[in-house]
Amino acid sequence: MDLGLQNRHAVVCGASKGLGYACAEALAREGVSVILVARKERDLAAAAKRLRESCGAQVDVIVADVSTEAGRTLIVNQTKSADILINNAGGPPPGQYADWSHENWIAALEANMLSGIFLIQAFLPAMVAQRYGRVVNITSITVKQPQALLGLSTAARLGLTGYVATVARDVIAQGVTINNLLPGYFLTDRLRSMFESWDGQVEGNSSAAEQKRLTIPAQRFGDPPEFGNICAFLCSKHAGYMTAQNILLDGGLYPGTF
Ligand code: NAP
Repeated sequence: MDLGLQNRHAVVCGASKGLGYACAEALAREGVSVILVARKERDLAAAAKRLRESCGAQVDVIVADVSTEAGRTLIVNQTKSADILINNAGGPPPGQYADWSHENWIAALEANMLSGIFLIQAFLPAMVAQRYGRVVNITSITVKQPQALLGLSTAARLGLTGYVATVARDVIAQGVTINNLLPGYFLTDRLRSMFESWDGQVEGNSSAAEQKRLTIPAQRFGDPPEFGNICAFLCSKHAGYMTAQNILLDGGLYPGTF
């Protein structure tokens, strides 16, 4: 299927590894020139090199922290045009409600709610003017199925989800869609490090990863390219009538009908 993405320009946040990188790779394979954003310069350079070598794509990088106003300003100032914006950042650490300070809350809101909102706000006018734009926000299954210890993450992502539900309807008539992709368990560095931290709490002989895998109807973790390919489809010419949606990619883990 031709996704109609040749010569489009994308800004992909949180893109030096994991799900963000998978989205950038899937877009680059379709002929999109991509700007990768992350905080660590060395990882970013390695990711850009890998992407150029694997798909011969036009790849640029911006070293920036999307959870800061300075980082977001840098991204906007260094981007000439963007047809596609992928919002992504690391999730806040797990914890208990009683431990979260005002500072912890502000950090979570900046990373997982306001980063997306302010970048959407910055890029939307040009997308509306050219009557084409695609925004995909990487959120989490926890938006639909809250989990113990992930209150900071869930609350902040739900704020972004609420914003998308309103603004997406303001711009769809101008050819701009905004959707959220909700990962369940994808085998990335972040998931691997979470398993390591859980292993001390696991009972019996099986590892945290094995116990978690068995809870997924698909009986396996997601492979990041599976996530990237759905993201590329959402950015394609075929997805212009689909907006304000929360799309689960979880191997059947979420147990509800809707
Ligand atoms: P990952 O493997 O740790 O990759 C995160 C990427 O984002 C890295 O490139 C990281 O690079 C970058 N990043 C993190 N914070 C950033 C910031 N403030 N500004 C700019 N770049 C930033 O994580 P992942 O597994 O792909 O997860 C991506 C998102 O999906 C996270 O929010 C995670 O909570 C959520 N999620 C993941 C899963 C899963 O199964 N993997 C499930 C549910 C939700 P730098 O560190 O260099 O900035």
